[in-house]
Amino acid sequence: SSELKGKHVTVAGLGVSGVPAAKVLHGLGAHVTVVNDGADERARAQAAELEALGVTVRLGDGATLPEGTELIVTAPGWKPDKPLFTAAAQAGVPVWGDVELAWRLRGPDAAPWLAVTGTNGKTTTVQMLASILRAAGLRTAAVGNIGVSLLDAVLGEERYDVLAVELSSYQLHWAPSLRAHSAAVLNLAPDHLDWHGSMEAYAADKGRIYQGNRVACVYNAADRATEDLVRAADVEEGCRAIGFTLGTPAPSQLGVVDGILVDRAFVEDRHKNAQELAEVSDVNPPAPHNIANALAAAALARAYGVPATAVRDGLRAFTPDAHRIAHVADVDGVSYVNDSKATNTHAAEASLAAYDSIVWIAGGLAKGATFGELVANSAKRLRGVVLIGADRALIRDALARHAPEVPVVDLDRTDTGAMLAAVREARRLAVAGDTVLLAPACASMDMFANYTKRGDAFAEAVRELGAGA
Ligand code: ADP
Repeated sequence: SSELKGKHVTVAGLGVSGVPAAKVLHGLGAHVTVVNDGADERARAQAAELEALGVTVRLGDGATLPEGTELIVTAPGWKPDKPLFTAAAQAGVPVWGDVELAWRLRGPDAAPWLAVTGTNGKTTTVQMLASILRAAGLRTAAVGNIGVSLLDAVLGEERYDVLAVELSSYQLHWAPSLRAHSAAVLNLAPDHLDWHGSMEAYAADKGRIYQGNRVACVYNAADRATEDLVRAADVEEGCRAIGFTLGTPAPSQLGVVDGILVDRAFVEDRHKNAQELAEVSDVNPPAPHNIANALAAAALARAYGVPATAVRDGLRAFTPDAHRIAHVADVDGVSYVNDSKATNTHAAEASLAAYDSIVWIAGGLAKGATFGELVANSAKRLRGVVLIGADRALIRDALARHAPEVPVVDLDRTDTGAMLAAVREARRLAVAGDTVLLAPACASMDMFANYTKRGDAFAEAVRELGAGA
């Protein structure tokens, strides 16, 4: 937009959000300087590409605010306490994230946003939502912290009726003026606290998703904190608070009755007090946390006016992404399940709750988490535990305190063969009928490039085990 023409804009960080942002800003006639902490090969290649367009790039100096900066557009991951932002605050320079930029440029005009955040289940819920909207014949995409970037979605050629938007707590932190059609916070558990500084700050950033909602604020009736965020939000007149529950729904809620997902918030027929949407068995996989995701997706779709049949068809058409409670194989009567995406304790607890007798493979980078609650709540399901990764000791200590009877193999290895060794140990601990579950409750970067590689290593190890059996 014209307000950016001729402005001195500093883009903080190259990478997946910074490079496209710099290009867009440059294209709008802004004077763009990109600052980046690192100067590795990838950064140099991206810098060269931008410099060829006439963008200034400063590699290896992400701390100094360039002279004359009028606006910073930051990569979402940049921590708010960085010196660059301290300098910006002192100079009265506003900071926008990539989402804020997309919203300011064309957000409200491109298509209404149905937005989803939460500690866990965001990607799954947004994909379910997009599937439901598609089943209703709407032009849509799952965008944001997933697949297509918001900048591409709002500025690209493709036209959309409505967008299913995944937003991380980082993105919400940097998106103060965003206003969604409707939004959901799926759950709130401690995560990324090292970034946000405190649980209160993390919750407040998540709560921004409800700000200015027009039609519905969707909350988790089993998670008080999400309902509190709805209460605290400043919304448009007539915007409704809609709950979802795994139990029988109250009015203004969606829930489950006798194996059927039902909607008591948006009922088409005046003579009925509930609308049947789908069967629990239409949800893939029908684990409790995933039914909650389906209800949240349905609530947003219904807030947009989608008919019940589209909810059912959309849920049936949905298949989960890899590394999310994915069944890998059965070997000697033991089932092997890959939930490498369980990168925090809340996610791991949800997947442990889906099985009865488990050999649990856990460990990695703890990101400041504690494990007492997770272990205490899951102890009775554990046949045994195999620990891997850098922060093993934290989980080992929690097991010693809350599950002293459970056998633990503490695998002091971080080499490439460690996952195979872990799977072999798990095999030794398991008996027929058990589930060997990779749900690390930790990030993967101590041993793997990302959670995908960790899950692949697990699946590969299970295949080797099967071949040797
Ligand atoms: P996100 O995008 O928020 O990381 P995903 O849909 O990718 O969420 O799921 C990540 C992991 O979180 C899954 O592998 C599963 O272990 C767990 N999970 C998914 N949905 C929920 C939920 N509603 N509550 C708790 N844990 C969940």
